[in-house]
Amino acid sequence: MKDLSSDIVYLNGEYLPLLRAKVSVLDRGFLFGDGVYEVIPSYSGNLFRIQDHLLRLQTSLERIRLELFYSLEEWLEILVPLLDKEKDQSIYLQITRGVAPKRDHAFPKKTHPTIFASCSDIQPVSDLELGVKAVTMEDNRWEMCNVKATTLLANVLMKQEAIEQGASEAILYKQGYVTEGATSNLFAIIDNFLITPIKSTNILPGITRQVVLELAKQNDIPVKEEAISLESLRSADEIWITSSTREIVPIVKLDSKKIGDGKPGIIWHNMNQLFQNYKRAS
Ligand code: PMP
Repeated sequence: MKDLSSDIVYLNGEYLPLLRAKVSVLDRGFLFGDGVYEVIPSYSGNLFRIQDHLLRLQTSLERIRLELFYSLEEWLEILVPLLDKEKDQSIYLQITRGVAPKRDHAFPKKTHPTIFASCSDIQPVSDLELGVKAVTMEDNRWEMCNVKATTLLANVLMKQEAIEQGASEAILYKQGYVTEGATSNLFAIIDNFLITPIKSTNILPGITRQVVLELAKQNDIPVKEEAISLESLRSADEIWITSSTREIVPIVKLDSKKIGDGKPGIIWHNMNQLFQNYKRAS
């Protein structure tokens, strides 16, 4: 395997220093946000749940009608040289519809997708053992939230609003029911059940969400996928958010209300341990 330092990225068949990686201003990713992406964690050089990430990528590509298919082996050939085996890192992989001769909403006739991948170290979540704060917000996104699209302006604005309110995440709701976080999926402990909203076009089918569901089932933690009203979320015993780079994060304050006793709950501690063991064994 090539020994590449951490500021090397992959762009359209080449490995090059980040500062030399350039994309045309006519790239439809730049002009329209016309692309999809994945964030894939790697623990000590092992890409975590890579098949699941690639399957979701393929589904995203199909939903935006971008024709591109690489096999698992082809993706590994591209991504593995970016990794450092000594570290926990995450790969950012983005595919856009590429450069068109002029700015036109309709697809260009022949497209050459732009493929970009970079790698960075995973930063541990600060205050994980204390839990974090979240604020609720009306989900004003589109009806294709199950596509991991680079078009993230609504998520960007909601996350920024959360940060400006002193919180780490925005928890979103639509018509009185919780969907997910601006950058994460959501779990709650209500009446001794671990509950997460059902997969739909309103949420991203998170890989961490999937792993948490599997671990709960394997370890006899009562679990269900079910709609959660905002009202019932407010009185949940525990709330967690999940994502590939932050894993499972306990929410201890929602808006101005303490969740549980204001500390990460016992089921979170249990699940987090199961997750840590699982990821090291994968
Ligand atoms: N929902 C949204 C909106 C996200 O952006 C993310 C990831 N950042 C997730 C859910 C979690 O997905 P995953 O566990 O696959 O990272």
